[in-house]
Amino acid sequence: MEQNFHEITVEQLCKVINLLHPCMDDYLYVYDFINDFYYISPHAKQRFCIPDNTFHDVVASHGLFVYPADLAALQEDLNALLEGRRQFHNLEYRWLDLDRQPVWINCRGYVVRDQEKALYMIGCINEIGAAQKADNVSGLLGSSSLQTYMDTVPVPFPDGYLLHLGLDDFKEINEKLGIEYGDTVLRQTAECISKCIFPSQKLYRTVADEFLILDFQGGSCKDAKALYRAIQREIIHFVEECRYEAVFTISGGILESSKIKDYSFYDVMKLSEFSLNEAKRQGKNRCYCFCQEDYEAFLKRKKLTQFLRQAVYQDCKGFEAYFQPLFHARTNTLYGAETLMRFHSPEGSMVSPVEFIPILEETGLIIPVGRWILEQALTACKCIMETIPDFRISINVSYVQVIKSDIINEIVSAANAHQVPPANVIVELTESGLLESNPHFTRLLAKLRENGIRLALDDFGTGYSNFHYLHDLRPDIIKIDRSFTAKALANEYEYNLLDLISKMVHTLNLNVCVEGIETSNERNQIQNLAPDYIQGFYFGKPCPYQQFTENYIK
Ligand code: C2E
Ligand code: MG
Ligand code: MG
Repeated sequence: MEQNFHEITVEQLCKVINLLHPCMDDYLYVYDFINDFYYISPHAKQRFCIPDNTFHDVVASHGLFVYPADLAALQEDLNALLEGRRQFHNLEYRWLDLDRQPVWINCRGYVVRDQEKALYMIGCINEIGAAQKADNVSGLLGSSSLQTYMDTVPVPFPDGYLLHLGLDDFKEINEKLGIEYGDTVLRQTAECISKCIFPSQKLYRTVADEFLILDFQGGSCKDAKALYRAIQREIIHFVEECRYEAVFTISGGILESSKIKDYSFYDVMKLSEFSLNEAKRQGKNRCYCFCQEDYEAFLKRKKLTQFLRQAVYQDCKGFEAYFQPLFHARTNTLYGAETLMRFHSPEGSMVSPVEFIPILEETGLIIPVGRWILEQALTACKCIMETIPDFRISINVSYVQVIKSDIINEIVSAANAHQVPPANVIVELTESGLLESNPHFTRLLAKLRENGIRLALDDFGTGYSNFHYLHDLRPDIIKIDRSFTAKALANEYEYNLLDLISKMVHTLNLNVCVEGIETSNERNQIQNLAPDYIQGFYFGKPCPYQQFTENYIK
């Protein structure tokens, strides 16, 4: 049957195309080599800047609507077909749409010959970007093409790198300047990147605001960084050119071939995405080079997050409340206890709150776990109050609880339910999470005061210290963090500073609690500063309730 194709005339084929074209989105075409004539489905005229759906002088006419950079590749392929070196035409390249913007197409066609002589080519053109329409915005190939290409790269990958680029806060551009402007930014970013790469480097747009450059020509992390910086400069240039209408930046995650162990597309993308996320996490507008240790720490954190989530769903199984004694500095008598959370990982180890509290905060799990620890703290306080009626229980409250839950009402009603007078409760707030003039905090303070609950400003002296908080929050107690205490014990200047701060705090009629005293020597030195309360391993380490009552209550 194949031999008879040459008997079908071009005229007949044009009629068939005309007949079929209303039934399909793709474009059928015939290229008549003998008469230098081209015929394409009529609806192509509504999409591409072709002169008409029929035209002569085919090669020259293609110059009008083929993306200039792709003309040479097309010409090369056509020559191969005409000279009989190739039978089947299959090329991904770009045509220009009616706005003269590039659109990726896949053009396939079969050459029909009479003996050796090429008569015509018949085939079909489809838009690669049609499945992922967004690609036409940037004029780049998308992730399915990336995957197809990656599958052709020999394993292990040749030396080189992947540079995964992502616009910073792209959502904001769309929100503030509109989606159309967002598209312009994407198109311009694609252009900025294109300007910086060599023909041997491949560029794809992977998802909405992310791009990926592949270089398997032996480049190292250093080369990738240089490329990243060149792109950064191009973008700054663009931002300046459009007169700062949209000020945006780009982050880059670099993955060197040598760091890849699993070559499946999915595994490679995982590492490359991690690198980009890491660049963003470290502050954006920067690049990050993949490092196995960082990745392992990330996986560990991810696993811990899963454990924490599971624990919360199982009524906080694995969490434990520890209590650390607080003493009156002058009399050395017990003042109360700070409630400190512990987590026993299902893998057997005890995880430090320094590690898991930030995860609980990030995920919002601090809200249910905070409720749970509140119950533990008040239950313990109620029992101890039977022996020491003015025993104070101190509870750490995260800013996330303040902003996203009704924590103060919860504390007040839990205290009522446990018959613990509010005056026996201290709420510790960490400075780092405080946002000035946040209405949530204003409400929190009013509510605390109204109910007679005391407020302690935790972590004082850790770098976030803002004396304004002393005015805005009017805390009852300032807790000097262990890191500040340690510095004061080691350095005269810091010691004098701490002395001045505690004098000032006293002048304001507030109380000072010094944390982190580990030895008797330290205690003596700190005693000279006349703090009101003291806390530290020297007086007692945090411990479970049972041990706490045995050591300090009985
Ligand atoms: P924090 O509230 O400032 O608690 C004091 C920390 O200092 C505790 O660490 C305590 O064990 C430690 N510490 C006390 N005395 C000494 C000492 O003499 N030497 C040394 N080296 N350290 C001492 P921990 O229990 O690891 O807790 C760390 C942080 O985690 C806490 O700092 C607090 O910010 C947070 N955290 C703990 N439990 C909770 C909780 O239930 N809720 C919230 N939101 N945060 C909590
Ligand atoms: Mg605390
Ligand atoms: Mg503290």
